[in-house]
Amino acid sequence: MSLLKVSGLGKSFGGVKAVDEISFDLAAGELLALIGPNGAGKSTTFNMVNGQLRADRGSIKLDGHELIGLPPRSIWKLGVGRTFQIAETFGSLTVVENVQMALLSADGKLLATWRKAAGHKRDEAVELLDKVGMAQQADRPCADLAYGDVKRVELAIAIANNPKLLLMDEPTAGMAPKERNELMALTKKLVVERSMAVLFTEHSMDVVFAYADRMIVLARGRLIAEGKPLEIRDHPKVQEVYFGS
Ligand code: ADP
Ligand code: MG
Repeated sequence: MSLLKVSGLGKSFGGVKAVDEISFDLAAGELLALIGPNGAGKSTTFNMVNGQLRADRGSIKLDGHELIGLPPRSIWKLGVGRTFQIAETFGSLTVVENVQMALLSADGKLLATWRKAAGHKRDEAVELLDKVGMAQQADRPCADLAYGDVKRVELAIAIANNPKLLLMDEPTAGMAPKERNELMALTKKLVVERSMAVLFTEHSMDVVFAYADRMIVLARGRLIAEGKPLEIRDHPKVQEVYFGS
């Protein structure tokens, strides 16, 4: 049974078919890479799944519930989390406070109540930080962290709401190979432990081949190939469009 079922999904901007009736499934516990050259439609696909963009056609079902037409907050409540291409935390707050804010928000409390709720679920927040290897740095201001560590905190924030599906747009952008591998190994561990699904975009083929269970390849809005990384690598269309040979 798939967790996410995307069928005939399409979006145009003016005359450009940014996403041209793509279909794919994603199961719980699976790490699916979405790859393709610049302009292929990866971000547009992501933004339709999380509700920031409204699809023109097709269907996006999470556990059988149609997501198209729901506002981003409702989609998030149904269990779709995301991280951002540029990691974002509140630099003036400490590491643990950032995660406490995420827990507060997951509980449906307004962030305006933050000052009153500074003690909110601190233990739970530290536990989440422990899962991403950041418990030791709980009381440091986020602004002082190295970029790789910010990405770890961001992951703790993203899982605070216990998402069934986590969307990660270029999670390893701007990272050195060692940090990249650490972040992806951690992501993989969380996927397995929590039986969460992850849909991620990635430029580095090394990362995709090392960590993705399956991948889908977009080119000019169309889904041109789908399969396990090793099956995809030698696919002639993928060679042509993606690797330029
Ligand atoms: P990717 O993330 O794979 O690089 P995008 O999804 O950002 O690709 O873009 C797919 C296509 O849609 C591109 O041709 C891009 O120029 C176009 N596009 C994306 N967003 C918009 C927008 N808001 N308005 C107009 N065209 C857009
Ligand atoms: Mg993009």
